[in-house]
Amino acid sequence: MKKCLISLLLLLAVACSNFSSIEKYRIGKPGESEMIMPLFTNQIPEELQFLRLKAGPLSRRDMKSNLYSTLKSRMMATVLDTANTGVGIAAPQVGISKQLIAVQRFDKEGEPFEFYVNPIIENYSQETQWGWEGCLSVPGERDTVLRSTQVVITYRDQDTWEMARDTVSGFTAVIFQHEIDHLNGKLYID
Ligand SMILES: [Zn+2]
Repeated sequence: MKKCLISLLLLLAVACSNFSSIEKYRIGKPGESEMIMPLFTNQIPEELQFLRLKAGPLSRRDMKSNLYSTLKSRMMATVLDTANTGVGIAAPQVGISKQLIAVQRFDKEGEPFEFYVNPIIENYSQETQWGWEGCLSVPGERDTVLRSTQVVITYRDQDTWEMARDTVSGFTAVIFQHEIDHLNGKLYID
């Protein structure tokens, strides 16, 4: 009996996650994992207000859930949408206030998209450079932004949950700065 109760509690712990009910609704079911998610933009006051929120961290438990894998898959479908392609995306842009970003690694062979959980920028280079930026959440606009040319990021490895660190430069460093700003409620137009 006691063993049974412990198993039930463990099962409940795995089943529960940090995702709010509205977030669960937005992420949808695993069967919808190829579907593009609606982008939150600065054109709608309520959505802009949401984009201004500071995103919460993901837990190890969240990462084991179906919701997490569906969310990743749908974020990929959204950033690769041929009608509106991007080079990076942050979960708040699809209405999920969690610290998850996807970045196209132009500094790696094959330029793959990679996900980063709870990423923070540990160090910004003093050297900066102006560059053109656009954002899926600020449609129809582009502007120049001053960014560090190199950053050191720390994040959770999505398989091992170990803390990981990476030093990134060039355009990929700009994407990391842009996407991590989203997690702090900041848009490039700020
Ligand atoms: Zn953006």
